[in-house]
Amino acid sequence: MFSQKGFSIYRLCLVSIFLVLFHGMPSSSSFSRRTLELMSKYPLIDGHNDLALRLRMQKNSLSQINLYNYTKAATNINRLRAAHVGGQIFAAYVMCTAQDMDAVRLTLEQIDLIRRMCDQYPELELATTAEAMRNTTKIACLISIEGGHSIDSSLAALRMFYVLGVRSMSLTHNCNTPWAETSSVFYSYYKREINGLTDFGKAVVDEMNRLGMLIDLSHTSLATAREVLQRSRAPIIFSHSSSYTICNHSRNVPDDILLMLKKNGGLIMVNFHNGFIACGGQGNVSTVANHFDHLKHVLGAEHIGIGSDYDGATGFPEGLEDVSKYPALIAELLSRSWSEAELAGVLRLNFLRVFDKVEEVRDTLRNTPPSEVQIPFAEANNSCRVELKPPVIPQMRNDFSVHGHSPLLSVSALFWAVLPLHYLLLHW
Ligand SMILES: [Zn+2]
Repeated sequence: MFSQKGFSIYRLCLVSIFLVLFHGMPSSSSFSRRTLELMSKYPLIDGHNDLALRLRMQKNSLSQINLYNYTKAATNINRLRAAHVGGQIFAAYVMCTAQDMDAVRLTLEQIDLIRRMCDQYPELELATTAEAMRNTTKIACLISIEGGHSIDSSLAALRMFYVLGVRSMSLTHNCNTPWAETSSVFYSYYKREINGLTDFGKAVVDEMNRLGMLIDLSHTSLATAREVLQRSRAPIIFSHSSSYTICNHSRNVPDDILLMLKKNGGLIMVNFHNGFIACGGQGNVSTVANHFDHLKHVLGAEHIGIGSDYDGATGFPEGLEDVSKYPALIAELLSRSWSEAELAGVLRLNFLRVFDKVEEVRDTLRNTPPSEVQIPFAEANNSCRVELKPPVIPQMRNDFSVHGHSPLLSVSALFWAVLPLHYLLLHW
């Protein structure tokens, strides 16, 4: 039993605890006001969104949908605006099954789709520079290629994608390319003894530095990530990956790589997908925030961003089901004593700093000519790749013997006969 004096002290303690718990902390309504004010001041730039993939499933028929209230995807314009999103990296993604087939055409079609979408809706705006992303009052669209198989082992194709507005590329998706290794074992393409990055892979990294493209290591193997982090002159990003220590999935980033990333000055943009934040279980806002806390502990808030992966997977945390829900995460991080300055970085400033630096490196390399490195034919040997040499037309020989004189064969023979003569005349 308490004495009278003891009871008074007990009451005093209870009142103190009450005051600390409820008076010293903002109420939930002021919390959301504080969150929304912060987010309107620092509109979010998200590192990875697969809306273009969802639209591909609708045959890229933009004319058939209303993107303001589209509900077959997690992403639509009304939701983006409700969450104060100010920039979105849209993935031009094509399946690994298109590797060595029509990956380049399919990627062009996805770039065309993103460009049309961002042109058609006045709330969206295609951006190709950090300055444009920083200054726009619209939702900036930055195009990224998801998976190096999209360039078909060609630096010329990489450069032409840049001309079309692509400013970021993840070196792999769930398949190896002939020059870089994936974190996934799903596909059996291009298995090699020595993995990581081949000489051609190093040339891709160098050319992306020269062009001013963000190198994205989400989906690559640890060996590839290490080699790129050692080689790249510019900071790199993991556009949609989370912490391996919190959830030991191969798509997540272990602490030793995070320390390399800190040294590189780069950024990890946290993926929300249940498979990566709760290792397949049902996550919630708190589960995602645990990744942020751990990442902050290991490499500091200035190297963290958000790369939700909305529309790239099914299964998102309770409370973070679509692009209108980002404020729930920011509110949770505020409640975990993340400062407004740290969150301004997470929301957009960290990404812009990295993009600025990538452009600075591009500027220092302005006198470096475009790379003419080509992948050795043996390394990218597949049935769809043609080695350029004088054509052999065995079919025509057969036609000649069976059907007599072939007009096409005559033209071909005449061409090869006249070519040396033409050369002599020109260079005499
Ligand atoms: Zn992905």
